[in-house]
Amino acid sequence: MLKRVLAVVKGRIQGVGFRPRVYTIAVKFGLSGFVRNTPGGLNIELEGEGGNIDLFFEELRRKPPPVARIDNIDIKSIPVKNEEIFKIRESASGGVSEACIPPDLATCSACLRELFDPNDRRYRYPFINCTDCGPRFTIVRSLPYDRERTSMAEFPLCGECEREYYDPLDRRFEAQPNACPECGPVIRCIDPEGREYFGDPVTVASKLLKKGKIVAVKGLGGYHLSCNALDAGAVERLRGRKKRPDKAFAVMCSSIEQVEEHCRCTSEMKEALLSVSRPIVVCARKEVERITGKVSHDTKDLGVMLAYTPLHHLLLESVRVPLVMTSANMNDEPIATDEDEIKQILGSVADAALVHNRPIVRRCDDSVLTFVDRQPLFFRRSRGFVPDPIPLPFDGPPTLGCGAEQKVTACLTRGDKAYLTQHIGDLSSYEVYGFYAEAVKDMCSLFNIKPEIAAYDIHPGYHTTGFGKNAVVSERYAVQHHHAHIAACMAENELAGNVIGVALDGTGYGPDKTVWGGEFLIADLSEYRRVGHFKQYPMPGGDAAVREPLRMALSYAGSNSGMKADKLPAFITDRIGKRNAAAMLQAIEKGLNSPLTSSCGRLFDAAAAISGICTNPSYDGQAPQRFQNICDLKEESAYSFEITAPGDENLILDFSEMIASIIGDVETGRGASLISARFHNTIVEGVAAMCEKISADSGIRDVVLSGGVFQNSIILSRLRKLLNARGFNVYFHRKLPPNDACIAYGQAVVALARYNIRS
Ligand code: ZN
Ligand code: ZN
Ligand code: FE
Repeated sequence: MLKRVLAVVKGRIQGVGFRPRVYTIAVKFGLSGFVRNTPGGLNIELEGEGGNIDLFFEELRRKPPPVARIDNIDIKSIPVKNEEIFKIRESASGGVSEACIPPDLATCSACLRELFDPNDRRYRYPFINCTDCGPRFTIVRSLPYDRERTSMAEFPLCGECEREYYDPLDRRFEAQPNACPECGPVIRCIDPEGREYFGDPVTVASKLLKKGKIVAVKGLGGYHLSCNALDAGAVERLRGRKKRPDKAFAVMCSSIEQVEEHCRCTSEMKEALLSVSRPIVVCARKEVERITGKVSHDTKDLGVMLAYTPLHHLLLESVRVPLVMTSANMNDEPIATDEDEIKQILGSVADAALVHNRPIVRRCDDSVLTFVDRQPLFFRRSRGFVPDPIPLPFDGPPTLGCGAEQKVTACLTRGDKAYLTQHIGDLSSYEVYGFYAEAVKDMCSLFNIKPEIAAYDIHPGYHTTGFGKNAVVSERYAVQHHHAHIAACMAENELAGNVIGVALDGTGYGPDKTVWGGEFLIADLSEYRRVGHFKQYPMPGGDAAVREPLRMALSYAGSNSGMKADKLPAFITDRIGKRNAAAMLQAIEKGLNSPLTSSCGRLFDAAAAISGICTNPSYDGQAPQRFQNICDLKEESAYSFEITAPGDENLILDFSEMIASIIGDVETGRGASLISARFHNTIVEGVAAMCEKISADSGIRDVVLSGGVFQNSIILSRLRKLLNARGFNVYFHRKLPPNDACIAYGQAVVALARYNIRS
């Protein structure tokens, strides 16, 4: 019997070849009707035999376009119109746009085949793309996603490209960045004076790289600085010029086979490497490897990614070695995106630049993740993932989550979806703050969101707090840092009820004006109660104690010896200098610029500094990174700890005995590997014991983990296993990093939960 249905499809359906796929399947089953984009989702009207309509949806669900994602299909019967053919109709506009654009997509295999096919008209053309691949987020100026609103607008299509663009059966149908050597952007290789090298730019760049030179390469969301990863001299030069002596670099490979020459990766890691998101995946470096240790000497791991633009593929094919690919910027400024910015880097940092004339509309750094016990652990969620929405547990007015101060992202909500910005960075410099303000404004206009609620940290000094307080909104909510951490992880795991929240990180402002960071909360999405924390210690010099781990070593050791300089272990006073040590102890005694902290990050700093692993870090987190790296993974012993409940209802997790034992181990000449292992095991056992105590009092069995300390895979893996073994349900982030990049989302969740309770 003849039937007609209207289907509304929601999900990632724009800019991914969804309508042509619908067209092809409809024609295959002899159905008439039409498909079109509307602000409320994709509309499909289908007319034909009922059985064929069922077959249509079965095939669409089974084989959507490779990068599409169907969240929901709503089907209802409508009157038959007796249409003859199936059509792709123009997009309908108006109303509140629910439109979204996909993240940037890595070059697909069909385009790669054409790229290296001498008979193809796009042979070796560095901007080849199709409906399944190519830039998206980084070239869109505004929505809806059409060519005239992208940075491809300045490249009119040639006849052949135009034919592809308008042919529903062509694999470049409405591929907005479609281009060819006739009509599209071009690359150039330039020297520090801006002069173009003679010859094929890719060949020139690869010759320079082989000679050990540093070449800036224009990517999707910004420039990379690139050099031969097998050339220790080149990597050293790059470190010197970028003033980045120790922090690991990422390496780009041409194929998964090349990755496996240098790294051991699990099946999950391989899958992530090959995914259209093409993140940097942190894998275990093989012991016998050719990639110079200088690339990541603080860790046994290596961050690798596969080529994700046609230009990367051409360059790697030509140079035939893995390339270091690190963001082109200085002093943690935002990644460089235009030629003016690269001019400042050329000459001083890069010897040449491989540039092109397709503008980058939006900065976007590479994403970084790894897998721990087969589960994802994000370090940074940016290119390839942004702006895909993260679900919210409930609907509510549009809300701005402002974020924290480091590893900042902002979050904007619409309905029951949260849109997080790309990675912004640390808001210490004027440039990064400018990038932040611009990214928030950009996200609002891109998704047509006018926030009515602003959520920000309770820290009065954060730039993001000021930003939220000044935002033009009708409601404001201040959210405590560690509550935001736990709420973010809860919302990701669809938890609402009371949980035991374990938030371990470096710094977060407490309502008692001390620095929190080793926190045990009983929390739901709107409120929390602090039920326990790591024992507090003074931070001599305040922020200086964050940069100089020896200060924390002195604070912990000093507390154990009654703040008497002459009772301190000599090896600690020697490293700090006798006078300095005495002065710091005095400052602590008098309470001068020595705020109290319960930070787990500072405890790592102190232990690393006492063990002599890292006393003078060159980047944030170097001490814990090195300390984790030397950990003897086979060692099972641990130090002692104590849980006390002095007076108030807070439980105190006290590691002072551990500190004394570490000092003892150093004095008796035990190795740092053993000390590190015992330290890690003690933290895990101490935290698990706290959870047991809190659970005994509250009856709660759900434990939610968040905070930057959980970037440490040993802590994450062992704590998760131990808590599971003791019968707890353990929850961890799946889509967001556990570090402060999740704070904006957590703030928005808490604000909306409070708003929903009030109204
Ligand atoms: Zn393609
Ligand atoms: Zn063309
Ligand atoms: Fe934090």
